[in-house]
Amino acid sequence: MIGKVFGRWTVIEDSGERTYGTVLYLCECVCGTRRPVRSTMLRNGTSQSCGCLHREIISGIKNTLEERLWKYINKRGPNDCWLWTASLNAYGYGQIQSEGKNRKPLRASRVVYSLTKGPIPKGKHVLHTCDNRACCNPKHLRVGTHQDNMDDMNTKGRNGNVGRKLSTVEITRRQKTRYGEQE
Ligand SMILES: [Zn+2]
Ligand SMILES: [Zn+2]
Repeated sequence: MIGKVFGRWTVIEDSGERTYGTVLYLCECVCGTRRPVRSTMLRNGTSQSCGCLHREIISGIKNTLEERLWKYINKRGPNDCWLWTASLNAYGYGQIQSEGKNRKPLRASRVVYSLTKGPIPKGKHVLHTCDNRACCNPKHLRVGTHQDNMDDMNTKGRNGNVGRKLSTVEITRRQKTRYGEQE
């Protein structure tokens, strides 16, 4: 076992420790961390690093989602609407695919909000003060309750449209007219 490499671990020596009859080897991770690791965990691949590998994967995922996100946003003046240039969901909101194994579409405005302003409190909605669902300008986003959204719509005379699912024709129209292109 001495000198063998398992993932990021290199086996240094028998640590002298035993757990349930298995040998714990003192191992060194590529990052320099030394720690006794069970021989069974090395052999079956359960332990591949001190934890630094996992941390790198997590931060890598964050970066790629964030990078993709900003690429799809048409940033204009600080107070203008920054429109989502990729696909819109059935409600007219920008959507972006999450990373990882279980990919699912995320609402772009929610991702923007959490990256720029912090986590969205549980049960809260990200509302658009500009009334433009495809907008991703953090200045135009605020959190509120579903009721706030309804109140907002009532004062703006949009009642009847609350959470309304859009037709495919409407979605296409919105995709096309995002940059003021005429139909
Ligand atoms: Zn490490
Ligand atoms: Zn806006």
